[in-house]
Amino acid sequence: MTAQRLDGLAIAQQIKSEVAREVAALAERGIRPGLAAILVGMNPASRVYVNSKVKTCEELGIYSEKHELPETTTTEALLHLIARLNAREEIDGILVQLPLPRHIDTSRVLDAVDPAKDVDGFHPVNVGRLVRNQEALEPCTPAGIIELLERTRIPIEGQRAVVIGRSDIVGKPLALMLLHRHATVTICHSRTPQLAEIARQADILVAAIGRTAMITAEYVKPGAVVIDVGINKVTDRAEVERLFGPDEKRLSELASKGYTLVGDVHPTSVAPIAGYLTPVPGGVGPLTIAMLMKNTVKAARWRRAAVRSATA
Ligand code: NDP
Repeated sequence: MTAQRLDGLAIAQQIKSEVAREVAALAERGIRPGLAAILVGMNPASRVYVNSKVKTCEELGIYSEKHELPETTTTEALLHLIARLNAREEIDGILVQLPLPRHIDTSRVLDAVDPAKDVDGFHPVNVGRLVRNQEALEPCTPAGIIELLERTRIPIEGQRAVVIGRSDIVGKPLALMLLHRHATVTICHSRTPQLAEIARQADILVAAIGRTAMITAEYVKPGAVVIDVGINKVTDRAEVERLFGPDEKRLSELASKGYTLVGDVHPTSVAPIAGYLTPVPGGVGPLTIAMLMKNTVKAARWRRAAVRSATA
């Protein structure tokens, strides 16, 4: 037996087509959703992410603008920019690409975003609404994982879910989303003893850790659904061969780019045991951007309806 591959790329494409249709419908009402992305400093990975978010906006007909600020930007200057974006009617979503440089007070910055424009779902108001299971702008990566499970018709209710990782961006909100869908959820982290034993109880196992190929077969119950959130760069040829065997595609990617992307799940160890497995790349990653687009349109619908009824 080998795990069925959960094709995040195909589902992300489906979601983006739906968003594009919704953008077209809003255009008939004279509304064009708009996203402002803020990038501070020179982090190359952040630059790639922001560029691909802006490009996806263009593809779907969403207005976008990019604010690139120098590494030396102060918290105050960033707060000032956010206040200006909060006040602009044509901006529905404000995205502050993380991580911010260390001298910037990230919490103050994220708390300054208007919750109605908080398309990353990081503002305490949206976090609180998620905890209470009320409609909210929800963090994109966990929301994408839920879409992946639901659209693949993988049952959640009554299942045992184990989420490894408790970050505010992935692990914690995902655990809440699974809980609200009636899974029995265990959250694990770096201080969890007997991690493999707990993970092996999972019908749905999520790895959001940031440790290359840490999750091996001994963590996985036969037939489990395994969701690999990790994105790790591997640059060493011997390691690539250890992980993938003589995989020509991986090796040629390594030769041309200098790295290959590997998740937190050991692909060749887990694939023979799991029932379903998300690949890296092409699993959770594409869904994150698709959900950002979906959130931007959702924010536009909600906020502009509220603005109109307030001014009517
Ligand atoms: P964080 O570093 O914020 O959190 C990692 C979590 O993993 C922490 O809760 C940490 O525990 C836990 N952890 C670390 N080491 C271990 C260990 N040895 N055993 C058990 N738990 C451990 O990462 P993120 O949540 O932001 O991201 C996780 C991964 O997902 C990264 O690889 C990231 O690149 C990727 N990612 C992918 C996205 C996508 O679109 N596909 C989007 C966002 C992230 P503790 O709290 O105790 O420190």
